[in-house]
Amino acid sequence: MSTSVRKPLISGNWKMHHNHFEALQLVQKLSYLVTADDFDAVDVSVHPPFTDLRTVQTYFLSEKEPIPIALGAQTCHAEEQGAFTGEVSAPMLAKLEVRYVIAGHSERRELFGETDALVNAKVQAILRSGMTPILCCGETLDEREAGSTEAKVTGQVQAGLAGLKGDQVAGLVVAYEPIWAIGTGRTASAEDAQSVCALAREVVRGVAGAAAASSVRIQYGGSVKPTNAAELMAQPDIDGALVGGASLVAEDFARIVQYRR
Ligand code: PEP
Repeated sequence: MSTSVRKPLISGNWKMHHNHFEALQLVQKLSYLVTADDFDAVDVSVHPPFTDLRTVQTYFLSEKEPIPIALGAQTCHAEEQGAFTGEVSAPMLAKLEVRYVIAGHSERRELFGETDALVNAKVQAILRSGMTPILCCGETLDEREAGSTEAKVTGQVQAGLAGLKGDQVAGLVVAYEPIWAIGTGRTASAEDAQSVCALAREVVRGVAGAAAASSVRIQYGGSVKPTNAAELMAQPDIDGALVGGASLVAEDFARIVQYRR
């Protein structure tokens, strides 16, 4: 499918790294390395820990020309408020001008027991607060070797999008992240990544129609580095990257953003 109308989105998922001082240093470096031409061609988001969000937001707005990096979060609670000790709601993130929120990252699913139903509730909460979900899906190594990648990704995407209207789906982001490639240095081949991203788009078509399928952005994630970003991004159904480890090093993340050079 043609990528002509979809502006790529490169997102940095910092996970539980960097206090707010370190976060400031990283986004300052990044803003010197990434140029206006890069921002014309590629949307960029960073997803720091919650404690860094206000610092990073203030920095982006403090420059004479506001820095066009979108602020992102790594998760949120599905309810707007209440007795949920330790949690952060979607309206709280929206108030900090967060634009993108990751929903259903495999670490949240595996380590914190997030189910497809909970991920769907979070996707809906993120949309209600006017932000864009990045809905994650992907198979384990065992599932890949058992030939169940297609069933796993199909199920996660269908469940994550349940109850959404076509125009809501059109604006969101799906991230295909094979779990065996996250943080391992193993990347899916560009062909394998393309074929699962194409499948995810087909699932979106089934759930939300052709218009939503052609405008939804599909990211690949899993050991994306400056050395493999261009080949992955050249695939017709890959519209961006969700980057973990390499997003913690300003020079590496900038080179991924600059994959066209
Ligand atoms: C991720 O955390 O979403 C990820 C893809 O991590 P890494 O780039 O380190 O594999």
